[in-house]
Amino acid sequence: MQVVYTPAHLGHDITVETFMGLSVPANEVAERAERIRAALESDGGFTVSAPTEHGDGPITAVHDVGLLRFLEVAWSEMRAQGIPRAFLAADTYPNRSMFEGMSPEAVARLVREPSHVGGRAGFWGLDSAAPLVAGTYVAARGAVDVALTAVDLVLAGADAAYGLCRPPGHHAARAMYGGYCFFNNAAIAAQALVEATGERVAILDLDFHHGNGTQQIFWRRGDVRYVSIHADPDRQYPYFLGRVDEIGEGDGAGENVNIPLRAGATNDDYLAATDRALESIAAVPGSVVVVSLGFDTYGLDPIGDFALTTDIYHEVGRRVAALGRRLIILQEGGYHRPTLGENARAWLRGAEGRPFDPRPASGVGPDGSVA
Ligand SMILES: [Zn+2]
Repeated sequence: MQVVYTPAHLGHDITVETFMGLSVPANEVAERAERIRAALESDGGFTVSAPTEHGDGPITAVHDVGLLRFLEVAWSEMRAQGIPRAFLAADTYPNRSMFEGMSPEAVARLVREPSHVGGRAGFWGLDSAAPLVAGTYVAARGAVDVALTAVDLVLAGADAAYGLCRPPGHHAARAMYGGYCFFNNAAIAAQALVEATGERVAILDLDFHHGNGTQQIFWRRGDVRYVSIHADPDRQYPYFLGRVDEIGEGDGAGENVNIPLRAGATNDDYLAATDRALESIAAVPGSVVVVSLGFDTYGLDPIGDFALTTDIYHEVGRRVAALGRRLIILQEGGYHRPTLGENARAWLRGAEGRPFDPRPASGVGPDGSVA
């Protein structure tokens, strides 16, 4: 399988994030992508290539141009405003009740992007979990190009391609970044596919978290079906979206399928959910599926609460490929670094119909313990 990777992600070298107001060691770090790249390179069955640049067009086909411009200048703005922080994160966000009672016209007129960079970050951001550093914009653009190059490979005839996107994307909405995500790589890829093929496209989101951004972008769209298996938002981020009764509206009514799972969800729970998700995708026409692939569903993940094991990723990859559709597989989350490479190798080998050959020699036991 062809793998698209760029070292541009290394510039997004964050070390801390905030959790309920406290600084904690960052989870979404560069080591994640490097672990996966190293494991795929050592496998021998994957060909790693660099992305090509695709410009602003595919991004603004999905995102507000204001978000793009903010992310482009945020770092230099923070420096120009004399704020000597190691990273930019907002602390004030426009809660919906701030404008309660105002007419939609008044809100449209009065709610605007401030000049202070912290205010701007709150205007465009969902939360404080997407710290922005000097290299973030270039890294986020690189991740988009990785996704779009994977699209190119499949449109050129490959059955499947894997984009090693970092930063991830599925929490980023049309006019919002957040949750480690800046641009929605999967949504940008799906939009590019709709434009290139004229077909309906399905997105299968297998990250532990609900992809609120992808759901928002295609909420009213009849040409993109979004199907997601994730932690019940009642107990897990992003808290405010991801429930069963969110099915889309207008042309998109019925095209949004959320499958929330309980804490401690097992391999069997997950396979049953996978079969439901694949049934939903098989029910609509189209020849391409975009997979938002996360490994924060793994049992030892530091921020997830499912109980999956490495071998199940091989089976999930196999079942997704059994749809018989071309696959654009894009990396989202997954934070248990020692097992990321093996989990990715297991999933992708499953998708290719190759057997999985666990490698205890990598220093990680079958239970994820590190030697
Ligand atoms: Zn996640």
